Amino acid sequence: MTMTDARNVVGEATAGELQAAVRGQVIRPGDNDYDEARAIWNATHDKYPALIVRCAGTADVIQTVEFARSQGLPLAVRGGAHSIAGFSTSDGGVVLDLSLMNAVRVDPQARRAVAQGGATWADFDHETQAFGLATTGGLVSTTGLGGFTLGGGIGWLLRKHGLTCDNLISADVVTAEGHLVHASAEQNSDLFWALRGGGGNFGVATSLEYALHRVGPTVLGGLVFFPGEAARQVLTGWRNLTTTMPDELTSLVDLTTAPPVPFLPESVHGKPIVAVGAMYCGPQGSGEDVIAPLRKLAEPVADLLGPIPYAAMQQMLDPLWQAGAQNYFTSAMIDDLSDSAIDELIARWSAKPTPQSEVHIHHAGGAMARVSAAETAFAHRTSPYLLNVIARSVDGVGFDGYTTWARDARAAMAGYGPDIMYVNFTGDAGADKVRASYPPETYAKLVAVKRRYDPTNLFRLNQNIAPE
Ligand SMILES: Cc1cc2nc3c(=O)[nH]c(=O)nc-3n(C[C@H](O)[C@H](O)[C@H](O)COP(=O)(O)OP(=O)(O)OC[C@H]3O[C@@H](n4cnc5c(N)ncnc54)[C@H](O)[C@@H]3O)c2cc1C
Repeated sequence: MTMTDARNVVGEATAGELQAAVRGQVIRPGDNDYDEARAIWNATHDKYPALIVRCAGTADVIQTVEFARSQGLPLAVRGGAHSIAGFSTSDGGVVLDLSLMNAVRVDPQARRAVAQGGATWADFDHETQAFGLATTGGLVSTTGLGGFTLGGGIGWLLRKHGLTCDNLISADVVTAEGHLVHASAEQNSDLFWALRGGGGNFGVATSLEYALHRVGPTVLGGLVFFPGEAARQVLTGWRNLTTTMPDELTSLVDLTTAPPVPFLPESVHGKPIVAVGAMYCGPQGSGEDVIAPLRKLAEPVADLLGPIPYAAMQQMLDPLWQAGAQNYFTSAMIDDLSDSAIDELIARWSAKPTPQSEVHIHHAGGAMARVSAAETAFAHRTSPYLLNVIARSVDGVGFDGYTTWARDARAAMAGYGPDIMYVNFTGDAGADKVRASYPPETYAKLVAVKRRYDPTNLFRLNQNIAPE
């Protein structure tokens, strides 16, 4: 679709009526800030919405939902705009943009925080760390907590405090009918169950309430880099360590390419490199003995593990994950990180199509695995590792071939686990991928909740649970 086509979808008078009904901003094709407003993090999805509504509050959300429904237009809900599959934009549709709704209110005594649905992890950590509190958040602080939480949410506090959705206490949701409902263990508990892993299928979460934990302000964490040739030794040693790691330590291995950064010697820039990222969130002054074995997995190129403010740890990776590149993620749960699985991983990584393409292995388990499969819509909890294969390119030339590399790598690894995908790390939008993300009984329950809250599938730009 072109900008002109998009401009013709909603007439000026109709757009003006919507503008008069909201406190926020209605942006049309041709407006000065349209190009900036239509861009999402993943440049693969370059679309031309008919309207972008920057909502200023819940009343605007209700108006926008009702507008899209009554006009019969596709509705894309946008929190932090980091959807890999491009769900937070649409050609010729309405984008309900929550980015102005980013307030976070902390109750330090009750150890709870309520965040508006457009807040990012940077917003959340800033407010909660003022009180030495945190909940499991993203590895990149620009990510929105809305989409992140609704899909599950893995981060540096995963093993100690569970998935982000495990820390969700309640949410306010605007449904397809434009009604505001509260979801918690006590009220609309079916919706509350579905929100914790079922994605944005059930409505617009205008605010989300989280449990907080004492974290930092200083933790022990960072990255240690090893030469690419040591990948097998590092992965094997790390796998062995993960069997006895305490819950306070969450770590991952990133098979990547050394960026031209001052903390890595110039001699390795542009060469394959293995980064082990880790964070220990136990009592301050402890944990050095726990992370010490990570420093010795092989001869390091650079050892940047040490005391670090939690808020800085949460932003450490931001410079490497700027918006505007082409990206595709695909994922699998891994049960068996056997020697042959490690060999397969390294072979796939060696064939990566661009220097920016990476393979991540996250250590899961701990608190995440202690929640029963039935408790939340995020049901696959017992696999000790989560694989994320990332095809990334700054210019996008030949990108389709790059996604094939990622899909093939994922397919090769899927046999080492239950062949399950993680919705937040899924760059595809197919019904088969959604089904592959949930056990059949969870999927059936999600369909029942979808029928109750969104029977006409107004909220379909997501990893979609079709109501029928
Ligand atoms: C650079 C980067 C780093 C990442 N790191 C991690 C990580 O460490 N751990 C992890 O688990 N995942 C991570 N992810 C994946 C991330 O969790 C998903 O991309 C998530 O969907 C992003 O949420 P968002 O609000 O920013 O995205 P959006 O694009 O705004 O939304 C994504 C989906 O959620 C829906 N949605 C968003 N907000 C709301 C809301 N308030 N109410 C209802 N529906 C809503 C949208 O409609 C859409 O379907 C990362 C992604 C990127 C691009």
